[in-house]
Amino acid sequence: MRAAVNHPDHGFCRDCLTPQQSGVRRCAHCGSPRLVRHPELYKLHLAHIDCDAFYAAVEKRDNPSLKDKPVIIGGGKRGVVSTACYIARINGVRSAMPMFKALEACPEAVVIKPNMEKYARVGREVRAMMQALTPLVEPISIDEAFLDLAGTERLHGMPPALVLARFSQALEKEVGITASVGLSYCKFLAKVASDFRKPRGFSIIGEAEATGFLAEQPVTLIWGVGRAFASVLERDGIRLIGQLQKMDQAELMRRYGSMGSRLYHLSRGQDERVVSADRDSKSVSAETTFDMDHSQLDDLVPVLRALSEKVSARLKKASLAGRTVVLKLKSSDFRIRTRNRQLGDPTRLADRIFTTGLELLRKEIDGTRYRLLGIGVADLCDSGKADPPDLVDTLSHKRALAEGAMDALRDKFGRSAVETGYTFGKGHRGKPARPGEEDEPEVRHPWERI
Ligand SMILES: [Mg+2]
Repeated sequence: MRAAVNHPDHGFCRDCLTPQQSGVRRCAHCGSPRLVRHPELYKLHLAHIDCDAFYAAVEKRDNPSLKDKPVIIGGGKRGVVSTACYIARINGVRSAMPMFKALEACPEAVVIKPNMEKYARVGREVRAMMQALTPLVEPISIDEAFLDLAGTERLHGMPPALVLARFSQALEKEVGITASVGLSYCKFLAKVASDFRKPRGFSIIGEAEATGFLAEQPVTLIWGVGRAFASVLERDGIRLIGQLQKMDQAELMRRYGSMGSRLYHLSRGQDERVVSADRDSKSVSAETTFDMDHSQLDDLVPVLRALSEKVSARLKKASLAGRTVVLKLKSSDFRIRTRNRQLGDPTRLADRIFTTGLELLRKEIDGTRYRLLGIGVADLCDSGKADPPDLVDTLSHKRALAEGAMDALRDKFGRSAVETGYTFGKGHRGKPARPGEEDEPEVRHPWERI
């Protein structure tokens, strides 16, 4: 039976995994129409698995009376939708929508407060199942991960495509939730594929079809192109990825800096990022409590800069880098705000930590008076993978070199030997306002960070 499996034209049935004859529309064995065929079906090994409406799916699993009802997870202080089940989505409910709007769109929805502890527990179960498929599992959030299944065929006695279909089945049977799978040759397109036909999707984007497929897609499909950047491109008359495919790299970099290089490569389906399982559970951070509360950006920026340098120094010393920048603020009424941003590549540079932190900080300047500011990086990995010059624009590459030179001077002459414009003369360099309030590296697991 296995011999026939390796003929991609034949494909297999996602419900019973039986190999199929070419041309049939339903499984000869179980009658299911969920057949998978693709010319590169048994060649591809890079997958992105994303659970469908995860929080809502877990709640439905635990309370079967919710099965056919629209369910929204959310509410609480900020009053926004965290996850909507697919029935609620059909009624127009979206993630991050204010709850009152969601209930206008879908008044009959059942609203459930999130139970993060439970979701983290289920998330760990799902991850353990993924790790049984391959050691190369890179979690992206509580319910999604990249998997590289290269070289696992002997172990499983079947090619990656079948291993993934079997995983989806097991997830439904053993955990009671569903997932969508994207299979491709690179991370970018595996992620695109898993988004393609949710829920319970299984989509494949092969190497041969990549550029043709991408040409027709909107630029927002490219990882890193959000609404703001899409409107910049739109102003330049660029809406489709196909238009980027016709531009050369120098032109794109001249126009859009570091994003230009990413646009060039990703628009052509070129993504060299590897699946890395060595994201460490720790984060490195530094924070300061002020003598008096601050609400102005001008007062906070020098502190942010000094703390970023401190975090960077620790990373460099430990030969580590981090992929997620985490900003922490505590307001005068002791409410804590944390904001995360995931970077394309891990960094250990003070400059990148600072500029990312600054972007996050700007959004929190709303008149609130803060008594504490902290900055850190999570999702740690070996610094060998940090700040690759191919994805970093030439300017920031120069800044990286300059930063290396400053580090060398500081090693030789002490920390105060070199000050940047942000910290110079501000007296914020490093020292926390109160002894004992200072940070030790915070230990958290990225899987639990939601
Ligand atoms: Mg998901």
